[in-house]
Amino acid sequence: LGLNIITLVTLLITLTPTLIKSEESINVLLPISLNLTVLTDPFSISAASQDFGNITDETPGAVLCPSSSVEVSRLLRFASGEFSYGEDATGPSPGFKVAARGQGHSLRGQASAPGGIVVNMTCLAKAAKPAAVVVSADGTYADVAAGTMWVEVLETAVERGVSPVTWTDYLYLSVGGTLSNAGIGGQTFRHGPQISNVHELDVITGKGEMMTCSPKLNTELFYGVLGGLGQFGIITRARIALDHAPKRVKWLRILYNDFSDFTRDQERLISMVNDIRVDFLEGQLMMSNGFVDTSFFPLSDQTRVASLVNDHRIIYVLEVAKYYDTTTLPIINQVIDMLTRTLGFIPGFMFMRDVPYFDFLNRVRNEEDKLRSLGLWEVPHPWLNIFVPRSRIQDFHDGIIKGLLLNQTSTSGVTLFYPTNRNKWNNRMSAMIPDEDVFYVIGLLHSAGGSQNWEELDNLNDKIIHFCDTSGIKIKEYLMHYTRKEDWVQHFGPKWGDFLRRKIMFDPKKLLSPGQDIFS
Ligand code: FAD
Repeated sequence: LGLNIITLVTLLITLTPTLIKSEESINVLLPISLNLTVLTDPFSISAASQDFGNITDETPGAVLCPSSSVEVSRLLRFASGEFSYGEDATGPSPGFKVAARGQGHSLRGQASAPGGIVVNMTCLAKAAKPAAVVVSADGTYADVAAGTMWVEVLETAVERGVSPVTWTDYLYLSVGGTLSNAGIGGQTFRHGPQISNVHELDVITGKGEMMTCSPKLNTELFYGVLGGLGQFGIITRARIALDHAPKRVKWLRILYNDFSDFTRDQERLISMVNDIRVDFLEGQLMMSNGFVDTSFFPLSDQTRVASLVNDHRIIYVLEVAKYYDTTTLPIINQVIDMLTRTLGFIPGFMFMRDVPYFDFLNRVRNEEDKLRSLGLWEVPHPWLNIFVPRSRIQDFHDGIIKGLLLNQTSTSGVTLFYPTNRNKWNNRMSAMIPDEDVFYVIGLLHSAGGSQNWEELDNLNDKIIHFCDTSGIKIKEYLMHYTRKEDWVQHFGPKWGDFLRRKIMFDPKKLLSPGQDIFS
């Protein structure tokens, strides 16, 4: 009798489902024997429904705040039907999708899981043992919990005098989030994107398998996951390459009124391989029909910079940086002099700041603080990020920048404009770039609000894409969101077959990152 009661109680526990209801009454059923606690309170649900883009609102059924990778594996084993109740026992069937969420800085619900379960990767990073960021004894790499923000990686690494080599402009993004896209910025031309600087990953596939992968081990998974938009597995740990961390940075903004001079100098600087080459290179446009931010420049020069923009309607800003520390201190000014002597900028319009390395990398944080204080951070962001082949950059400039943007009554947000090198990208990775040695990163970082609504800005984006299509400019979008399968097929082009094959290998039930809308 004793044995029967125990069996009965065990069976009952196994069979009793937890019923979780979301606001939209989409149910997520988890068996108690999974031993997972999920959050369904309004705050957790609302936070997981939105993202930085502030355009979509996708309600998940629940949020998992895992304390170990094993919990994530268990969740995915159940969701994919790999979880066994035992021979005679039955329980709820899964019917939900799963999305990892880092910092939710996606633009169009890419980190959402409507009606499913969002895995809060910050919880996993907080629970990481012995720490979320562990620098190797020789300082050549760090093992990082994927929910960690890059700013935290930087903080820990610089204490040991080392640093990752390649960065995004903004550091409050999770390691897993940027590795699922590419992670690009002003060091990409020299060191490649962040996905090119990873030695090894721990990944939990859509079937719940926990796998380690690298360029030598489980290579299909490794290359698939890098730039893989969360489709093949949830990254839990990344081994990131490190190098010496410089102490200080000479940070320059140099102004041009001639587009050919601007791009010629940018391209020359990214092709240099000698000791005086720059460590960072980007570019921006200042347009008279937009907000002209002169805060970088000395107070005494701000008015003449603003007048320059007014007079020319558009000014091209070359942004470069050169790192230095005590050993290079005596010659850094000579190096800067050599670097800038041959550049074709407007005489008298080169400005330099001298800042600590950390502050340089964390520069966008100040912009965030400013925008937050003005109530302009939590507004819709219909950003358009594209890669444009170098051979067509003049056509893009004439048609889009001069022909379209300068003729708008107003423009909003920052416009990034800089070239980078293709040879720093590995074609086996999922990320897509144009098929040319040099291509430009164009970021139209629109902010809606005030007189402009996001739909108008979205229409503008459509016009830009349409112009490129009809002019035969073979762009690739970055951080894109397509809803039609044919657009994804076109985006991946020759790599679509590999993408699909890897999906079937690692996430055959198509559970992961449904917010990307690739397989739904
Ligand atoms: P989330 O939005 O949380 O997730 C993005 C996608 O990755 C989702 O599909 C999600 O399911 C998936 N994902 C998240 N974590 C994991 C994981 N551990 N394993 C598997 N899949 C996962 N990008 C650049 O390249 N360069 C920049 O300079 C840059 N600057 C930015 C500045 C700002 C202010 C913002 C808002 C974004 C910027 N981005 C930049 C874009 C950014 O890299 C992506 O939006 C990135 O996804 C953000 O990381 P996240 O942690 O917020 O990801």
